[in-house]
Amino acid sequence: MSAAYGARVAIAESGRFGGTCVNVGCIPKKLFSYAAHFREDFEVAKGFGWTVGEPHFDWPTLLANKDREIARLNGVYERVLTQARVEILRARATILDKHSVQVNGKTITAKHILVATGSWPVLPQIPGRELAITSNEAFHLERLPARALVVGGGYIALEFASIFHGLGVKTTLSYRGKRLLRGFDGELGERIGEEMAAKGMTLHFGAEPASIEKNSDGLKIIYSDGSRRETDLVMFATGRKPNTANLGLEAAGVKLAADGAVIVDPYSKSSVDSIHAIGDVTNRINLTPVATAEAMWLARTLFHDQPTPVDHENVPTAVFANPNLATVGLSEEKARERYGALDLYKASFRALKLTLTDQHERTFMKLVVDRASQRVVGAHMIGPDAGEVIQGVAIAVKLGATKAQFDSTIGIHPTIAEEFVTLREKANA
Ligand SMILES: Cc1cc2nc3c(=O)[nH]c(=O)nc-3n(C[C@H](O)[C@H](O)[C@H](O)COP(=O)(O)OP(=O)(O)OC[C@H]3O[C@@H](n4cnc5c(N)ncnc54)[C@H](O)[C@@H]3O)c2cc1C
Repeated sequence: MSAAYGARVAIAESGRFGGTCVNVGCIPKKLFSYAAHFREDFEVAKGFGWTVGEPHFDWPTLLANKDREIARLNGVYERVLTQARVEILRARATILDKHSVQVNGKTITAKHILVATGSWPVLPQIPGRELAITSNEAFHLERLPARALVVGGGYIALEFASIFHGLGVKTTLSYRGKRLLRGFDGELGERIGEEMAAKGMTLHFGAEPASIEKNSDGLKIIYSDGSRRETDLVMFATGRKPNTANLGLEAAGVKLAADGAVIVDPYSKSSVDSIHAIGDVTNRINLTPVATAEAMWLARTLFHDQPTPVDHENVPTAVFANPNLATVGLSEEKARERYGALDLYKASFRALKLTLTDQHERTFMKLVVDRASQRVVGAHMIGPDAGEVIQGVAIAVKLGATKAQFDSTIGIHPTIAEEFVTLREKANA
């Protein structure tokens, strides 16, 4: 975008083009998530008269197909840069001062420097941590384990627990807290845990691994409360850290937060005028479309004469666990803090598609309405394709639609999504 606005641009990339999202994040994760969901799809098909035989899953096939698609995407991203006439430097960059960067032993000077180095998974400092993996390695496992223990309660943990389980791995999700998905609407965290447990995943709350040992039968995890668990694979999804170590930022005068994130103003400018930062390295909202939007806003600010601050209001997001979950706007808890009195509308039902099967997954939908203005300030869903549904609802929430405007929208029947425009009963009590 900066090049399109007329800037002369060079980019240094030490890894593969597309970053975390394309190589070890959103894209391969969603492909794995599709793969995992087929187990249930085969079951559902039986209720509709299909005989599918005994399904067999082959991990190497999925890996090879996934890798081929990622390699294609790497090429697409590189071509986009080349076509925009961006100079590509294939190496790690470090910052020397306010206007210079070192790449491959060469010093490059620029009017502006943009730090978009992303983040990296963090492992807890416990004995045996080297026996565990993170999401980075989960994308390249040589073979699937018979048993897996996923540690964490955030979206990456839920997604990988669902992936392993769906692919036939006996899976435990282990979280030190009491409720999954901190920061999301509390009811979502509770309900998704119940749904995942009902599907056969083991959920272990309230304890943290204190050490990992290898034994003849696999791995043994000893928890802080003394309990033990045996497994074949331990994956930590316990947080990520901004990639700012040894980057030369502090020496150039760039202020970092305690967690290493680059501190920026609403225009993504760091404490040094010529150095900006966007994406996960700023640890604001760590999602790909947010990083991309921050990039667009910054290019407009610096090279298109249109100073544009970031807009982090009403960012929708999805958790591709099984079942899917998605949300836009405020949780009930946050809305109560901000607005006080609320009207809540909820629905919980078994989707039409499951009525001919013996599957009992419940779809859950919730609208959070500011009682004074009647604006819908939060929309939340657990259920099939929740991300697809909430993406549409997000436009209405972003535009400040009222509950009456939701109600005046005609539903598409029969769909799951129509429930968002037919919720009549208040669930305030
Ligand atoms: C398992 C997982 C699943 C995810 N799923 C989703 C999802 O479904 N939806 C969603 O929106 N987000 C998802 N995310 C988050 C998303 O991947 C990130 O928010 C996004 O990639 C951030 O983009 P970025 O450009 O800030 O950083 P990154 O994508 O991490 O890119 C940073 C790049 O900088 C390079 N680099 C780092 N240091 C240097 C250096 N010194 N010199 C040169 N190059 C350097 C790295 O090689 C990397 O390519 C997921 C993340 C993970 C880990």
